Amino acid sequence: MTKFEIHQFICRTDNYGVLVSDADTGLTMSVDAPDAKRIDEELEKKKLNLTHLLITHKHQDHIDGIEYLKNKYNCIVLGPESEKDQIPHLDITLIGDEYIDFSGSPIRVIETPGHTLGHIVFFFEREKILFAGDTLFLMGCGRVFEGTHEQMFESIKKIRDLPIDTVIYCGHEYSLANAKFAISIYPDNENIGNRYEHIQKAVSEKKCCLPTTLERELRTNPFLMYDDPVLKNKLGKIKSTDLEVFSETRTQKDNF
Ligand SMILES: [Zn+2]
Repeated sequence: MTKFEIHQFICRTDNYGVLVSDADTGLTMSVDAPDAKRIDEELEKKKLNLTHLLITHKHQDHIDGIEYLKNKYNCIVLGPESEKDQIPHLDITLIGDEYIDFSGSPIRVIETPGHTLGHIVFFFEREKILFAGDTLFLMGCGRVFEGTHEQMFESIKKIRDLPIDTVIYCGHEYSLANAKFAISIYPDNENIGNRYEHIQKAVSEKKCCLPTTLERELRTNPFLMYDDPVLKNKLGKIKSTDLEVFSETRTQKDNF
């Protein structure tokens, strides 16, 4: 249950914009700023005043709209301390493992290096909602651009340890490509097969596949299933550690 209204929409080609607003206090946050014009249109349509802008990482398709939105709304911009030189207009920098308050709700900032070294995600602890940026996707995980596979594995483990009924919003709509990869390594898995069909239908109808839940991901996302004997067997890594299985899955997806 949440007192917040969450409004999600596609920006650029496959980025997600997401606005979280509280009608009682009039506070509204945007998670990342992929496209100022699109975000502004949605704010105007919903008659919302942007008060907070939370940035997960420094990539251009997540920060492009900061300048415009800061100038227009004078919102507070929060983002990772270690990427502050690459992210404009940061008012508050975050290192992970701290809490920020949004409209009376505690948000846990979790450090998830791997995709970039400074990447952070935002977990609304009371509402059990995670904004995962480019760390976790529906049936997938972010590419490891800056960190090591081990760092990404530790980051993914932190997400896997969240409450099972956590609702997860992600930075991109990559569901169909991720589902194709998942079915290629799990051709006989009924949960994955059903989900693949569901995603194909949603995409053909131009519907968003997100948000997802941790419970669903635990059953269908190979990057969270590193301790599954079926996956270990399929990858020829029956005696390998969870990290080695995760790493092999990431490498195979990179080359898929
Ligand atoms: Zn990114």
